[in-house]
Amino acid sequence: MAVYLCHEQPDLYVHDAQVVDVRPGAVALSSSAFHPGGGGQVNDIGVIEWSGGIASVTGVEIDGDVWWHLLSDPDATPSGEVQVRVDAEHRLRVASLHTTSHILNAFVFAEFEGALVTGAQINGDGTGRMDFDLPEVDNDKVRALAGAVNDVITRGLTVSTIYVDAADAATTAGLVRSMSVAPPPTPDGRLRLIDIDGLDRQACGGTHLTNTAQSQPIVITKVENKGRHNRRVRFAFDGGTGS
Ligand SMILES: [Zn+2]
Repeated sequence: MAVYLCHEQPDLYVHDAQVVDVRPGAVALSSSAFHPGGGGQVNDIGVIEWSGGIASVTGVEIDGDVWWHLLSDPDATPSGEVQVRVDAEHRLRVASLHTTSHILNAFVFAEFEGALVTGAQINGDGTGRMDFDLPEVDNDKVRALAGAVNDVITRGLTVSTIYVDAADAATTAGLVRSMSVAPPPTPDGRLRLIDIDGLDRQACGGTHLTNTAQSQPIVITKVENKGRHNRRVRFAFDGGTGS
């Protein structure tokens, strides 16, 4: 995967950019702090504003080096210089739940003999799910992991991003924890890892917190059997909007 601007500058929410192309309902910009989504994580949302108007950005579509920002208004015709504004609350909500999904993943991996992730979805409304390759386990045991997850949130562990040589990473057990959502290496052969101090380290291209204490506690709302090998674990912020 490419190294995104939001990877290099995770605190950048507002910046200027040039319109490089426009089509009905979309605009391509010279640079963008938006996370385009991927690996089960929804994209950033926000607005762009230019001298002639303002439009909501609902998604990002990458075509080679061109980042098309999808606009809610199909008649918007941005031109020249624009101000890009990423919705910080949405970013924080998604990054929180995503970081928490790593913590949950760490406990599932440790408790259930290296069970791998088979799918994930982190939504913008404070709800998410992870699918694990978990045959023959008691769903109550999975549900009980919420306590351990919330304990890590309370402890306030540092979350950092590091890049390692992808060839080295391939030989380190447990690093590529996902069967379907891990990112490919960067063009120069590096793999992006998210490290939760002393708890977990895994390959990921999403957005995350810098400390686990920035997240609200979560609840595991449901554990479902999805096929013989799959458990779907649904979670949400405690007291949030999820079900
Ligand atoms: Zn992640």
